[in-house]
Amino acid sequence: MANIWEILHQPDTVVFFDIDGTLTSYNYGEHHAHHELDGTPEFRNVNIYADCKRLKPLYDYIVSHDVSRLFCISREPHGHEAWKSEMIERLYGIPASHCFYTLEAKEKPGIVKEKVKEMFPDISPESVVLMDDNDDTLGMYMTQTPFCTAHPMIFMEHI
Ligand SMILES: [Mg+2]
Repeated sequence: MANIWEILHQPDTVVFFDIDGTLTSYNYGEHHAHHELDGTPEFRNVNIYADCKRLKPLYDYIVSHDVSRLFCISREPHGHEAWKSEMIERLYGIPASHCFYTLEAKEKPGIVKEKVKEMFPDISPESVVLMDDNDDTLGMYMTQTPFCTAHPMIFMEHI
C-alpha cells in the first residue's frame, strides 16, 4: 500500500478536509488563537473568516487535484457556516456545496461514511483521506471508519 503522501497525490483519491486549523491557520483573535469574543453571544455576529489567509501548500495541492473529489467537514456551533463556506470557495475554489457541517465532532466519522457511500459507492477505502488537525477526531476516524487519515502538518514536510 502506498504511503499517505502518495495516496493524497493519486488522481482518484477523495479528501475530506477539516476547516478550522486545517484550511485556516486558526489565528482568529488579535492576541489569541481564539477570537476574543469566542464564548460570548456576540461571537455569532463576527465573521472570523473574512480575513483568513490562503495556506499556500494546501492551496497548491487543492488546485492540482480534481475538485470534484475534494470536500470539507467542519464542526460549527456558532452559526458561521455561510461565512466559512464563502471563505473556502474564495480562497481554495472548493464549492460551498462540498462543505458539510455538524454541531458535534463525534458526528464526523458517521457523516463522512454516509457521504462516501452516497457519492463514491465503489471507491476503495484506501483512496479516501480524512484530514484534520484534532487528535481526538483523527482517533475517531481511525477507529470508526476504514479510511486513511492525515494531519495537515504533512504539507509542512514537503515545502
Ligand atoms: Mg480543526
